[in-house]
Amino acid sequence: MRPRIAFFDFASCEGCQLAILNCEDRLLDLLQLVDIVEFREALSEKGARYDVAFVEGSIHREIDAERLRDIRARSRLLVALGACASTGNVQAAANALSPAENFARVYGEAARNRVQADRRHWPLWAHTRVRPIEEVVEVDHHLRGCPVVPEEFLRFLGHVLAGTRPMERPHAVCTECKAAGVRCVFERGETCMGQVTWAGCRAICTRQGYRCDGCRGLLPDANLAAHRRVLREHGLDDEAIDARYDLFCAAGRQAIEEGPL
Ligand code: SF4
Ligand code: SF4
Ligand code: SF4
Repeated sequence: MRPRIAFFDFASCEGCQLAILNCEDRLLDLLQLVDIVEFREALSEKGARYDVAFVEGSIHREIDAERLRDIRARSRLLVALGACASTGNVQAAANALSPAENFARVYGEAARNRVQADRRHWPLWAHTRVRPIEEVVEVDHHLRGCPVVPEEFLRFLGHVLAGTRPMERPHAVCTECKAAGVRCVFERGETCMGQVTWAGCRAICTRQGYRCDGCRGLLPDANLAAHRRVLREHGLDDEAIDARYDLFCAAGRQAIEEGPL
């Protein structure tokens, strides 16, 4: 029987699903080997059970967490698709402020007053916190990055078809930079998140002359104290360093530096 695979989205820009749809040439071959039973961006059909559920997006409300638990219960394997699902991504920076403060920053002071005055919505605001999906359900594999790397997705499906599982081997983007012979951005006086970031993107940003901003998330054993010291030595103050972490890794930094949320 062909594996039944499905795609689901929560809070996200849907760019990871788009990255997969953009593998058009290889997707047609893939369709001969698997049954895509649910994929809102491409199909109207719905499935009941799945061999692999790919989940994109971060979890904000209890109603999302319930939906995710239901997907987990109906899936043999569950995969975090992209940075929003794997780390909470940029959205997780909102956890540092109250919902009313977040509303005020985006929509102005009138919105803060409205949130505080509208008691009907208090239970919703009170339970709004951005979480990677692993805080809600068990995750079998992570496809990291913002967006995901299509080759990693195709490689993962190759493993599913072969009945094997790829290893998640923690190593830093620096290793891929060195393998590609890239001159480190620190050598030209700039700063980088590559030392504390999961590799797997083949250092695509640094190979093109930019820095790594850490979109694949913090390594589990990242030495943030040492990384902060290096960033300070290169001229960033604590506020600027927090901003660099919070671009993609707010939830990871909070978990490592302040303990679980
Ligand atoms: S990880 Fe990035 S590209 Fe993927 S859904 Fe989230 S914001 Fe969009
Ligand atoms: S440019 Fe960034 S990722 Fe590459 S070696 Fe330097 S610190 Fe590491
Ligand atoms: S180099 Fe860094 S920012 Fe760029 S894709 Fe890789 S992990 Fe993401």
